[in-house]
Amino acid sequence: MLKGKLCDNCKTRRAEVFQPHTNRMLCRECFIEDINKRVMNEIKRWNMISSDDTILMALSGGKDGYVLLDVLSRNFKSNKLVALNIIEGIHGYNKEEDAKILARTVKDMGIDVIITSAKDYTGYSVDEIVKKSIEKGTGLTPCTYCGLIRRRIMNYYAREIGANKLATAHNLDDESQTALINILKGDLASLIKQHPSAKVIDDDMLVQRIKPLRKIYEWETATYSFLKGFHIQETECPYLELVPTLRAKIRRELYRFERENPGALLKFIGLIDDIVENIRTQEKPRLGRCIKCGEPTALGRKYCKLCEMLSDIGIESPRYLNIRKRGIVV
Ligand code: SF4
Repeated sequence: MLKGKLCDNCKTRRAEVFQPHTNRMLCRECFIEDINKRVMNEIKRWNMISSDDTILMALSGGKDGYVLLDVLSRNFKSNKLVALNIIEGIHGYNKEEDAKILARTVKDMGIDVIITSAKDYTGYSVDEIVKKSIEKGTGLTPCTYCGLIRRRIMNYYAREIGANKLATAHNLDDESQTALINILKGDLASLIKQHPSAKVIDDDMLVQRIKPLRKIYEWETATYSFLKGFHIQETECPYLELVPTLRAKIRRELYRFERENPGALLKFIGLIDDIVENIRTQEKPRLGRCIKCGEPTALGRKYCKLCEMLSDIGIESPRYLNIRKRGIVV
């Protein structure tokens, strides 16, 4: 299909990528520029980053994280960026070699990198926590523990290094799935809370999260990483097949719908933007403090969700025993 064709944008270089939602064939350079431009437009549209912000980038070593790293490093000063990689401790999934390559790539860009783990924070790897959860018959999925622990560690480190923004690499596919799940569950509060126009929670222990890739398709982050020659972690998490059924079904259906209607997900998230932007809440949400670990939790709760879940399987009060400083690489 692309053989011998010229790029629809620059009309000079050879086309290498077909972009179904614009019906264009693009060369490597124009495709990379297109992604950069769309990410920066999204950052500007929602005022995600200002020039004096320090940003902690949560990178897993996968394709999305490399795109986040590449785009932010091209557009913001390296001393304002720090990368964080969390090793979950999942057999066959976390490869030390991948973490080292990621760390080297980040350092070569002149950016500090921190590598930490679920075990550093809770005293247990995700595998060990899952084993305890099965023994206790909690019925909770590995992703429930893993997601909460990672969110806690990301916020913790963002605070530790004095970052005022925490950037995650969620892409358009992730964003569409989450929005649709919230709609199907009738959970308007979460839909609004997770949107970039939401009022920032006024809490000095909680760092504002931003998702600069929220309008970039997953296939585009894969293509970008491939064209840039990044070494991406290829192995899939073995717990992936245990993700909640609703999300798995929605993912499958959204892929099918997008295939038949190129651009459908972009239109869907665009519509969500229009709706949520117009729903204004008057007050900034406030949070309470967990009486065990001292971290922020929903108002009215004595214990945070993480302490509650870990306590149920016999793990008390997670806390770091060993803080890794900026620039230290394992
Ligand atoms: Fe963690 Fe679930 Fe992702 Fe595996 S699939 S890394 S358990 S959130």
